[in-house]
Amino acid sequence: MENIDTFISKLEDIFSVKVDFKINYVKSRDEMDKVLKRKTESWLVGTAREGQIYIFPKELFPKVSNQHSEKDFEPVLRHEIVHLFIHKAFGRGPAWFDEGLACILAGQKKKLPNENPDPTELIKGEDFRKAENPYGKSMKLVLNLLKAI
Ligand SMILES: [Zn+2]
Repeated sequence: MENIDTFISKLEDIFSVKVDFKINYVKSRDEMDKVLKRKTESWLVGTAREGQIYIFPKELFPKVSNQHSEKDFEPVLRHEIVHLFIHKAFGRGPAWFDEGLACILAGQKKKLPNENPDPTELIKGEDFRKAENPYGKSMKLVLNLLKAI
């Protein structure tokens, strides 16, 4: 995969916007809970909000999460960068669009469901977090849109 600067240039072309952001390294799960103002799930290792990225340092990934290893750091960072571009270009859309597109552009691999997901259960963030395999379902919904073009 291309380096991060090339990746950002590619996103500037795709979205026709530039995003000026800082990466804030979060040192503990408690600190992440404070950033998001809620108890965060153990799989959550990064977030993009108000034009900023909050992410655990690579070496903390396996310690703060039961689902992530150090090799996930770069794809997650790319995923969060894509969110900043989506938010600046389109604002906040449905969670499935935001998450599906972020996963696809970040090159993340998720298990796609066989059947077509119901997008209405993946509109809001809180519903998204409760759904089963929400990232895979969201990727499938965005891929279906792309296939339809
Ligand atoms: Zn995301």
